[in-house]
Order: sequence, then C-alpha cells, then structure tokens
Amino acid sequence: MSLESNIKTAIRDIDDFPKKGIVFKDITPIFKNQSLCNDIIEGFTESMLLKPDAIVGIESRGFLFGILLANKLNVPFILVRKAGKLPYKTISYEYELEYGKSTIEMHADSLNKDWNVLIHDDLLATGGTAEAVANLVKQQGANVMGFNFVVGLDFLNGKQKLNKHSNNIICLARY
Ligand code: AMP
Repeated sequence: MSLESNIKTAIRDIDDFPKKGIVFKDITPIFKNQSLCNDIIEGFTESMLLKPDAIVGIESRGFLFGILLANKLNVPFILVRKAGKLPYKTISYEYELEYGKSTIEMHADSLNKDWNVLIHDDLLATGGTAEAVANLVKQQGANVMGFNFVVGLDFLNGKQKLNKHSNNIICLARY
C-alpha cells in the first residue's frame, strides 16, 4: 500500500468535533505505528528539494512530526504557540479566524535573518494558521522555503492562501 493510503487507514474521522459540522481528522492512531511514523518522516524528507535551515512547528499537533523531522534533518526546531504560552521575549502576529481573531507567537531570538525555513503542521484546512506563521517568519527577516502537512483538505483551498509565500506545499494524504 502507498504511504497515502496507510495514513488514511490510520486516521480516524470524528464527526461534529470540536463543534457541529466539523469532521475532525484524528491523527493520534498514527503514533501507535512506529513504521508508519518512520515512513511519514521519510515521505517528508524525500519531498524536499533543499534542506531547510530550520523547521517551524505550529501548536500543538505540528510539534509531533515537526520535532521528529527537525531531528532527522539535524536542524533547529522552532515552536509557534498561541499568545501567552511562551516564557521568553516574543514576537507576535494577529490574524482573522472565521469568527474573531487569534494571535500566535514565537520567541524573538528563534530565527536568524535570511534562514530558509520550512513550516510544518499536522493538517492544512483553510490555510489561515500556516499563512499567519509565514508572516511571523518574515517579520524575523527569514524566508519561507515551503510548507508540509501530514493531511491536506484540498476542498478548503488552503493552498491558495499559502502560494504567495511559497508554492512548495506538500500534503502526504489529501482529501
Ligand atoms: P486552518 O488555519 O484552517 O488551515 O486550520 C489548521 C489548523 O486547525 C491545524 O492546526 C489543524 O490541526 C486544525 N484543524 C482544522 N481543521 C481540522 C480538521 N478537520 N481535523 C483536524 N484538525 C483540524
């Protein structure tokens, strides 16, 4: 079976979570399968044209494969968290949600200017979160060399929002 079908077999759909009308893609069963975890990291590394200078992972499920991937590539891993969670001096970016606004943060000394950064999360939906992270990365003077996700919900057109930052967008399993 292909990597994509193995991921799809492992993922669990949860109807109406966290609210009515959402089909939540639960990736937690993947972590019970070590060979699938290794294959996912392999899938990400094979899809890379160039090695990034750092991986930026998005809270919280973006930390899971993000740190594994950064360690595999032997590059720094940088955490992006919701406002108020990081202990040191931070830079922040506010962005629009479907209803209201949200703010994400990164430690102010996280990225070197001109680093080529790869942004990672578990899932690409509308792309609003990953786009906000791209803006945060650029605020630090670093470059966005691409995005990668375990899952992409193509019908929500998230790639459209990310294309202006980089068209190197990898989703290992697409719906
Ligand atoms: P978005 O900003 O719309 O691309 O949303 C992406 C973020 O929301 C990611 O961090 C995902 O983990 C989470 N997310 C959005 N939709 C889903 C879904 N259907 N299943 C699981 N996670 C989701």
